[in-house]
Amino acid sequence: MLDLLIANVHTPQHKGPVDVAVADGKIAEVAPRIEAASHRTIDGAGRLLIPPFVDAHFHLDSVLTRVPNSSGTLREGIDNWALYKQQKLTVEDVYRRASQYCEHAFSMGIQAIRSHVDVCDPQLRGARALTQLKRDLADRIDIQLVAFPQDGYYSAPQVREQLLSALDMGVDVVGAIPHNEPMYRQGSESLHELLLIAQERDLLVDVHCDESDDPNSRHVETLAALTAQLGLQGRVTASHITATAVMDPYYVSRKLIPMLAAAGLHVICNPLINVHLGGHFTHPKHRAMAPLKDLLAAGVNVACAQDCNEDPWYPLGNADMFEVARMGAHVGHMMGLEALHTMFDTVTVNPARIMRLSGYGLTAGCRANMVLLRATSVVEALRTSATRELIIRDGAVRGGAAVPPSGNRL
Ligand SMILES: [Zn+2]
Repeated sequence: MLDLLIANVHTPQHKGPVDVAVADGKIAEVAPRIEAASHRTIDGAGRLLIPPFVDAHFHLDSVLTRVPNSSGTLREGIDNWALYKQQKLTVEDVYRRASQYCEHAFSMGIQAIRSHVDVCDPQLRGARALTQLKRDLADRIDIQLVAFPQDGYYSAPQVREQLLSALDMGVDVVGAIPHNEPMYRQGSESLHELLLIAQERDLLVDVHCDESDDPNSRHVETLAALTAQLGLQGRVTASHITATAVMDPYYVSRKLIPMLAAAGLHVICNPLINVHLGGHFTHPKHRAMAPLKDLLAAGVNVACAQDCNEDPWYPLGNADMFEVARMGAHVGHMMGLEALHTMFDTVTVNPARIMRLSGYGLTAGCRANMVLLRATSVVEALRTSATRELIIRDGAVRGGAAVPPSGNRL
């Protein structure tokens, strides 16, 4: 006896409509027609069933702080965040804002978030709040945390100890920000030290890398070289790398991109934030996003992510991964039919690979985490930011627009 049968749905990967059978919180079978008895059957009416969105680059400690940024620059964002940390940040404050955002994100179909957490705070207020939140929300959202030295790994002597304490506390991934170190050389040194920490502790790495309009900011080259030298292929992510948009095209296409591909580096673009924060100081204005199309063509695993939502860097955001993918499609020239499907992958399967989510997907044996959309195709869903009709987590319907407050039937 099945627990749940979702009949007559389209999916991003199957040719025609299928039925999806769920038992014990897992997908038992996906086939054109499933006759088995089930405790509950939902008529999908030909709509699109997808695996949940994965947001692989976010900042839950600063979310919903609603700090204004009048210049719209990365620098003012970092400065305003430093002031907020000094004057207002508490463990309770982080927990309250982050949980409020996660509730909304869940209703928007997101079930996994990788969040950076600032470890330059001597009291590690963000890390304390978010490691607790990670445990409290485990039945709804998989939260993965990155120990992120926002002000720079060498900005203060105690940052190393704080970063290690955060990892001891349950923060999962090692972060870095080489372009924000006092000297260029220290950017390279920070990468070396932090990758060694990851190697020693068998952890993944996610670096805020070359997030600037400086064509000479080439820390991603160092990151790729060290990743290969230390045998960390497939475990390291370069986030942002917006400087690649203004680097010499010969260097990017002939040297850098092949190097990233060979090192198995993952790349995360944050299209909304990249376009907003980048390009302030160049004329003519450039697109301020990594060359997503060229990276994908070279076989690099690329994800698109939200990054910020109503915080010192970005006043908008709605946990809508369709909005993220649409901006990526515009900026990255990804409007062909196949390219639009690829953009959908950049907010689902590609970031799931980055986060190493186990049992992710719509095949037998996967966790029964799914979202039913009010659309019949990926392109329609992407175009309309389709309404999330049903949110299913571990085989149970947990929300969605089709669930009335008092009941749970479609
Ligand atoms: Zn970020």
